[in-house]
Amino acid sequence: MKRLVLAGAGHAHLHVLRALGEGRWRGVEVVLISPHPRQIYSGMVPGWIAGHYRIEECVAPIPPLARAAGVRYVQGAVVGMDADQRRVRLADGRVVAYDLLSLDTGAGLALEAALATHPGVLPVRPLESFVARWRDAHAALVRDPGSRVAVCGGGAAGVELALAVAYRLRVETGSEAPRVVLASGDTLLPGHAPGVVRRVRTALAQQGVELVEARVRAGRDGLETLAGGPVRAQWIVAATGVRPPTWLAGAGLALAPDGFVAVGPGQRSASHPQVFAAGDVATRVDAPRPKSGVHAVRAGPVLTANLQRALAGRDPLPYRPQRRSLYLLATGPKEAIVSWGGLAASGALAWRWKDWIDRRFMRQYQKPAGD
Ligand SMILES: Cc1cc2nc3c(=O)[nH]c(=O)nc-3n(C[C@H](O)[C@H](O)[C@H](O)COP(=O)(O)OP(=O)(O)OC[C@H]3O[C@@H](n4cnc5c(N)ncnc54)[C@H](O)[C@@H]3O)c2cc1C
Repeated sequence: MKRLVLAGAGHAHLHVLRALGEGRWRGVEVVLISPHPRQIYSGMVPGWIAGHYRIEECVAPIPPLARAAGVRYVQGAVVGMDADQRRVRLADGRVVAYDLLSLDTGAGLALEAALATHPGVLPVRPLESFVARWRDAHAALVRDPGSRVAVCGGGAAGVELALAVAYRLRVETGSEAPRVVLASGDTLLPGHAPGVVRRVRTALAQQGVELVEARVRAGRDGLETLAGGPVRAQWIVAATGVRPPTWLAGAGLALAPDGFVAVGPGQRSASHPQVFAAGDVATRVDAPRPKSGVHAVRAGPVLTANLQRALAGRDPLPYRPQRRSLYLLATGPKEAIVSWGGLAASGALAWRWKDWIDRRFMRQYQKPAGD
């Protein structure tokens, strides 16, 4: 009997679990290792902050999915790996050996040390800790009308979070006083069309979000721009981009220049044929793409097929990730901005589209196969 270890309950592995629930793979024991018994769907988190969703609507519970798939769930985090010896090490010291390994553990947050030690910092990754800490920050923000939040990061996550926080505080306190600043770095929404950026600027202004288009750092009295301009905020939501998990450096796997697992056209490791990786933890050396949930989701079916093929001793099927991704950026109220290549659109219909896509995606994993 071969052992397939799935590390991380990320988007692509949710698909693998679902496929296993629909029909078992013969001659293989499957083990899933992930630190939390639920997977929070990042695409719905801004909607949760804005007050449109309950957290239960944004999560996939892992134990029932694993049970339905005949998979043994091990609650734990991989902190080390020996790719030559085919084993992973968990934070509590356990060692799990594998014949075939699939990594979908996501990325870490790129956060400079000075910001990381700020007492009011809320790193968006891991999402589980962010969600827990946001509850406390939110309660404190509602209690103290003079307190302010800085969201650091000018990508889609930073924009959506700034808008969601501003909207929620306005709704709950009934005050339109500006309390949120978005520190976007040098470029607001890199990679998106000018029409999208224009609409985002309008949405930020509508929600009273102050935009600081500069890089910031933690100063003596809180945040400041690199030029020394003060950014007054007690809470800092850090959506500052991704970095590779630290344990990858000693794993023995070939890494891409960005430090993530180097994989080829079939999501297979460039150095170890018995290792596959998908989602943010992997970089396609033949077709690099920005890290995003869209690519993690799209990799699910090909990863599933290729794990089965690898178990049967067959070569993986190639897969070409799409060049353009559809982004639906939530803007606080039940409205969204559509970003698709050079196209931009916005409004309530875009929100309804996003809401439909997200709920439909999550429903697949909230109700395991056979239920
Ligand atoms: C607030 C926010 C909003 C976003 N919105 C969007 C969006 O609208 N569209 C979009 O395309 N992208 C969005 N993103 C980016 C998106 O979240 C990521 O690209 C996506 O989650 C990557 O999926 P993944 O499967 O690689 O990993 P993840 O979704 O990060 O899942 C990783 C899994 O691995 C587990 N894990 C972590 N470490 C370990 C370990 N050491 N050992 C074992 N298991 C581990 C985790 O608990 C989790 O189950 C957003 C990000 C944020 C923060």
